[in-house]
Amino acid sequence: MKMDPVSLTINMRSLSHGINKDRFELSLREIDWNLDNIEPGDGQAFIDLEVDLEDRGIICRGILDAVFATPCARCLEKVNFPITEEIYRVYSWEGNISDDLDSEPVILGGGFSILNAVREAIILSIPGKALCTPDCRGISYI
Ligand SMILES: [Zn+2]
Repeated sequence: MKMDPVSLTINMRSLSHGINKDRFELSLREIDWNLDNIEPGDGQAFIDLEVDLEDRGIICRGILDAVFATPCARCLEKVNFPITEEIYRVYSWEGNISDDLDSEPVILGGGFSILNAVREAIILSIPGKALCTPDCRGISYI
């Protein structure tokens, strides 16, 4: 299985029919995340993928393992937070009306990107109120 580490596009021709498993390192800082208040943190990021290519579409499962950063809710210092989050997305062929409302349309034989699925997993993992330290006193004016 081949995946571009920046666009997170999987080449459909690199898939065998049935289950395909692979582990990829992501180029976290080169990816256009388009996320408010969240940016790549320190360290490497990996995704373990299990991609099931079937006649009617593709079922993609994965585990994202990465570190992202968000500002401390009190002092705005960057706070790193690790993410281990499951990814699950169904893709079906464009023009082939599916009754699965949750599936994303893709072109048969082309590439398809899992970036949206990964982005949603990151949004789900963001702490509601991140603090740099539990007793952060906030921005101090000297
Ligand atoms: Zn703080």
